[in-house]
Amino acid sequence: MLKSGTYTQLAPILFGNGCAGQAGEAVGNLGCKKVLLVSDEGVLAAGAVETVKKALLGAGIQVIVWAEAQTDCPEDTVKAAAAIGRNGSVDGVVGVGGGSVLDTAKAVSAVIPNDVQVLDDIVLYLSGQKNYANQPLPVIEIPTTAGTGSESTFVAVVTSEKLDCKIGLPVPPAYGIVDSELTKTVPSYITAFTGMDALSHANESLTEQTNTPHSDLLAYEAIRLIKENLPLAVEDGTDMEARDRLAFASNIAGISFNESGVHIGHSAAHALGHLYHIPHGVCCANMTPAIIKFAAKTYPEKMKKLGNIMGAKITSDDPEVIGTQAADAVRKFAASIGVKTFKELGLSKDQVLAAKPMFYGDPLCMAFGGEVTEQDVTDILTDAYEG
Ligand code: NAD
Repeated sequence: MLKSGTYTQLAPILFGNGCAGQAGEAVGNLGCKKVLLVSDEGVLAAGAVETVKKALLGAGIQVIVWAEAQTDCPEDTVKAAAAIGRNGSVDGVVGVGGGSVLDTAKAVSAVIPNDVQVLDDIVLYLSGQKNYANQPLPVIEIPTTAGTGSESTFVAVVTSEKLDCKIGLPVPPAYGIVDSELTKTVPSYITAFTGMDALSHANESLTEQTNTPHSDLLAYEAIRLIKENLPLAVEDGTDMEARDRLAFASNIAGISFNESGVHIGHSAAHALGHLYHIPHGVCCANMTPAIIKFAAKTYPEKMKKLGNIMGAKITSDDPEVIGTQAADAVRKFAASIGVKTFKELGLSKDQVLAAKPMFYGDPLCMAFGGEVTEQDVTDILTDAYEG
């Protein structure tokens, strides 16, 4: 029998090269007349904000542009943007950017009709102990990296001042627009690590407790598309066939892990990213081989399949061999597209191991479909560092 579970698709997605031109119609259909367009400096300079703004204005929607989002969504930026949106009496929020922007847009959409107190109470919202007094404004997410898949996930990953860590505020998007044309300007190194982030979503989704045959299907296809297309897009950012397939892969990996989940790799990535300000995708790329090796002990068949999609040619059924060979294939893949290791970034082993309390204390750590002991966490971090 196939494993039972719930299929979900959080928000409708408009997908296709050039489809951001239809943003006005999509936003108008949600009943929005005046929106706060959230973005950042890099995305503004790349021209994506102008593309979306033009489409919104063309549909008669008023737009306030706020392009001051920062990496990893610090709380003070959410407060600043929400104040502008509230003063401007907006009735919707549009995020145009990478994951940091999309998450900022989500958090802003919850704070505008409520209060900044929402940010202090993240844990209560995340654990379902508290509901919003007023529903968040509709948030329309338009990714410019491939990517986080945030347009299809229910959380905004916020850097909480109070908790001094990265944590998820639940805010489901109302609509997503995935247009690979907007990813054409992503520099090579960012293309590489954002693609590895999507790969890490697919990998962890396969072995999270609530995975289903449906989430697995999306995850394996995302892994295949990333293996085939990420090196092409890193090599030549104007290869729009590769960019298009990566935009799709990122989105379906997002749908997959929103339905299933991510676990140990993301607990570690959030901790290490927060402690040392390393890009999220780089942390995920470094953690993924160690997670594969660990997960192979419980899920040898899945990790064998993943490894073989990544080119490992695994014939053994021994979990140890599968884990080693599949992890090696992913490690080599990341190196081949130039993603730096923790060592190459200048981190010491002690610095990586110092993430252990934050890593082990993260609720996602227990979402793996099997036991995770404190010793496992030490071994996983050591493996991620030493390779
Ligand atoms: P990012 O949003 O931090 O952007 C990285 C850099 O790329 C920025 O300087 C940005 O200006 C630039 N950039 C983005 N698009 C560009 C474009 N088209 N052209 C030129 N430059 C461009 O990076 P990211 O990896 O997309 O997002 C990482 C964040 O997403 C992390 O905070 C992570 O925690 C979060 N995340 C959230 C979810 C979720 O489900 N909510 C999932 C995964 C990751």
